Amino acid sequence: MQYDAVIIGGGPAGLAIASELSRTRRVLVLEKGMAGNTNRSWFVPLNVVDDTVRPFTYGGVTRFLANTYSGGKATWNARQFPRYPYVDEKRLLPHWVDTIRANGSEVVDQCEYRSHQVKADGVTVDTARGQFTARLLIDCTGYNSQIAKQYGISRASYYWWSVFGAIGDHPNGLDGMQVGDYMLWQTFADTTPNADTSLQQGRPLFEYEILDERTSFSLVLYLRREIMSREFMEPVFNRIIREEAATSAFHSMQVKELKYGWYPSASVSQELARERVIFAGDAACWTTPCGWGMSFILNNYRDFSARLEQALAGDQLGRAHLAAIPHFRFRERGEIVLNALMTHFLSNAPAPMLDRFINLFNDTSPNHIDPIYCEKVFTLDITTAEVHTVLGAILKEFHLKELFGILQPDDYLLLVEEAVAFVGESVVGEVRQWLHLGGAKPVDPTRNNGFDFA
Ligand SMILES: Cc1cc2nc3c(=O)[nH]c(=O)nc-3n(C[C@H](O)[C@H](O)[C@H](O)COP(=O)(O)OP(=O)(O)OC[C@H]3O[C@@H](n4cnc5c(N)ncnc54)[C@H](O)[C@@H]3O)c2cc1C
Repeated sequence: MQYDAVIIGGGPAGLAIASELSRTRRVLVLEKGMAGNTNRSWFVPLNVVDDTVRPFTYGGVTRFLANTYSGGKATWNARQFPRYPYVDEKRLLPHWVDTIRANGSEVVDQCEYRSHQVKADGVTVDTARGQFTARLLIDCTGYNSQIAKQYGISRASYYWWSVFGAIGDHPNGLDGMQVGDYMLWQTFADTTPNADTSLQQGRPLFEYEILDERTSFSLVLYLRREIMSREFMEPVFNRIIREEAATSAFHSMQVKELKYGWYPSASVSQELARERVIFAGDAACWTTPCGWGMSFILNNYRDFSARLEQALAGDQLGRAHLAAIPHFRFRERGEIVLNALMTHFLSNAPAPMLDRFINLFNDTSPNHIDPIYCEKVFTLDITTAEVHTVLGAILKEFHLKELFGILQPDDYLLLVEEAVAFVGESVVGEVRQWLHLGGAKPVDPTRNNGFDFA
């Protein structure tokens, strides 16, 4: 039997899209493990949570903190949203599996994808459980997509987030930490021999979220060009939660569940489709530079699925048509650039520079910035005027040379290229408007960064 769509990967992207598409189409989801079983967990901005998803959220981040070993401290309450809710991954993903099955479509576990062949009228997929055919293949296999690799889709310009942490039980209480706390970045003098330097040495950030009166999610986080191994991260995490004086609240924490993984930090120019094949979720770098992958999925899966439905209805499953499907809406181009710059700065700047950055939030600082801008950058909800305000304050505080000093020379160009791609596109667009030539046309219709700006 030929399905309308075969979705490879039963993570949040595959299940969310299948739950929508299966309302009108016969869909087959193939998962190498157990669909809906994940070792990740998420908090998201409130505006991506609709009525369907809301029952599967709880609690949320209400207070942001920063703390460096050399003395910088900041605390502020969330203002952009009253809370940034946690998605209950153990309930939402199984709910999507049930929805897909209730809609008459299929989810097959222990069914690893091996290869596929595209023909004129469909796609044949070889798996650990035999062959399946469909009109369209949707690759939702995540950060390590073999399908993208087979097509030679380059990840050379990607940065990667590597995360290792644990859900922990605090039987003796939270020791001063509050439910709703989110430690945005904490650094330690002795985590690496070169904690004062940068990316090259891979200084980890320590973050934690306080989920309820006795439960935390704590983690170490790296933003680098290469993927850090679990073997590398696990001992770093253990040392931080067991030995650092500044984490005494975690020393008696009992680990309940390990949470780890890798995900891309958004890049601007991607191939999002091939003939009868489309990529979604981490496999298509559906994220922001700071890593809101789940947020992206919740924000986009309905619209994406509705466009896929139209493509299926019109039998428009060629590469260029599919590549034009993703539309991730943001107000301003500068949001992405600033989010990327801030993300790299916070992940890699030495502690004394972070202290100066933290001090910008202090009312007495001559270059004072309202911390609301941090949240606005974080959630891609900042206007161009506000981008100028933030960049202006940062550039008054730091010399450009200092800012570039936190990156490897090879990386300057990547960031500059990203900035030029966005700024260039918008400038070309404006000039075309002046000359009455219409909006900027994409150079290559098979490449689409997915981002739409109002
Ligand atoms: C620890 C951690 C915390 C995070 N926190 C947040 C957060 O707070 N907020 C946020 O917005 N985002 C967060 N993210 C990012 C977010 O988790 C990802 O962007 C999101 O999971 C991507 O979903 P996906 O379905 O594309 O990929 P995945 O979640 O990776 O799912 C891919 C699925 O495909 C399956 N698969 C892979 N290969 C095959 C194959 N060959 N055959 C069949 N099946 C296959 C896998 O088993 C898996 O089930 C976090 C990520 C991690 C690791």
